[in-house]
Amino acid sequence: MSRRTRVRFAPSPTGPLHIGGVRTALYNYLFSKQQGGDFILRIEDTDSARFVPGAEEYIQEAFDWLGLPYDESPSKGGKFGPYRQSERKDIYKKYVGQLLENGTAYMAFDTPEELNAKRNETPNFQYDATTRLHMRNSLTLPAEAVEELIGNGTQYVVRIKIEPRIDITVNDLIRGEVVINSSVLDDKVIYKSADELPTYHLANVVDDHLMEITHVIRGEEWLPSAPLHVWLYRSFGWEDTMPQFVHLPLLLKPEGNGKLSKRDGDRLGFPVFPLEWKDRQSGEVSSGYRESGYLPQAVVNFLALLGWNPGTEQEIFSLYELVNAFSFDRCSKSGAKFDFEKAKWFNHKYIQKTPDDILAEMFKPVLTENNISCGQEYVAKVIGLVKERVNFVKELWGQASFFFIAPTSYDEKAVKKRWKKETPAQLTELISVLQEIDDFSSENQEKTVMQWIETNNYPLGNVMNTFRLAVVGECKGPHMFDISALIGKQETIGRLRKAIQEVPVAESD
Ligand code: GLU
Repeated sequence: MSRRTRVRFAPSPTGPLHIGGVRTALYNYLFSKQQGGDFILRIEDTDSARFVPGAEEYIQEAFDWLGLPYDESPSKGGKFGPYRQSERKDIYKKYVGQLLENGTAYMAFDTPEELNAKRNETPNFQYDATTRLHMRNSLTLPAEAVEELIGNGTQYVVRIKIEPRIDITVNDLIRGEVVINSSVLDDKVIYKSADELPTYHLANVVDDHLMEITHVIRGEEWLPSAPLHVWLYRSFGWEDTMPQFVHLPLLLKPEGNGKLSKRDGDRLGFPVFPLEWKDRQSGEVSSGYRESGYLPQAVVNFLALLGWNPGTEQEIFSLYELVNAFSFDRCSKSGAKFDFEKAKWFNHKYIQKTPDDILAEMFKPVLTENNISCGQEYVAKVIGLVKERVNFVKELWGQASFFFIAPTSYDEKAVKKRWKKETPAQLTELISVLQEIDDFSSENQEKTVMQWIETNNYPLGNVMNTFRLAVVGECKGPHMFDISALIGKQETIGRLRKAIQEVPVAESD
């Protein structure tokens, strides 16, 4: 019987979630939804030394913002919980016991000093089938000695017993079959009595099994751990339900080789985290996509294409379309280069797709910052006229401030070029023409003003540019009559009057 697809994203809360981790989670989401399955968030917090307060909340908030809902998670719960490994101590204890019982793991009592001495004595020392015979563990010590050590409270670790010279095959959907000989593996610690906690490997495998995970989709940095995980599955006798492995290619820095790091982001001026993160100890702030003005849909779309391609020219995908189109066959084996310009391009595209009233809502804080209070409907109309010129909502102010405040200065270069001695008279005449217009719509103004220019044989470019200079303060902005129609007749005329008074006619004229 085929099993219901269940995937998990299993971050360790050791700091803010890197954008590469977000991509891993996204691919998990896309695949599980395409298969009609479940997407699970599991927090791998067994390493208390690396635990960072606030990191789990950050992860949850990031996925809420991105719009990638989990079916089961620490906050949502689910029938396979708890979903925080620190709350599953007893479960791991039981399974470690099982391995000790069936002889596929053993207890080791070597102190850190003893291990260090060995490491100094033997170059490249690894605890394995050969060396374990010379160490203090439950394989070498008599049973009574082991019992005594445990009885008197001596701390120990449990190690997995790797048998040498056995080929271990990891089946990976992107990489194919990866075969590793067990002789290269060491007897990894899977449990520590001191804190009664398993290590990552054991907890990860036990949980994937108990949570009925069918596909382990994770970053390629975990590929070296996969043979050990396969070995653990075998040791438990869980081969039949071993998940399918999928190791995703790295996200590479924009130039050169190597993994995309926070340093690259800082150097080149782009975020490598979904949300801003403030380090509680150092106070250092790392920028986030959200705070930098990215729309979550743009981030999702952009990340989906870093390592996967649809095999067509299509670049803009809704989440729903991504779910339908996604496949591991079209994921590349080699790393995906991060392209920050492309990220901006996606944001631009998504701004165009976002309804103007929603953008107006997002633009509100910028307006407030500039002491503007204005009806939302007007703001939305303004945005509709200028949004094609911006990549970010915050850039709207630079493109549209003149819709909210009359110019206080006039671009000198343009004045010099355009403001002739006849300009004040022409613009005064224009004022009377505009005054006569009842229907101040863009089309109607345009018709009337063009007629006036033609009848008088005025130079079209010059009249329109000085009109624009008077209203905008610069020779920029959307269609002139769209601007005047929106700010209204009175305001347009007021600005013309002010400019006639204030702009000096160039000397050379
Ligand atoms: N806790 C590991 C991490 O931080 C999980 C790796 C995996 O998905 O197996 O990425």
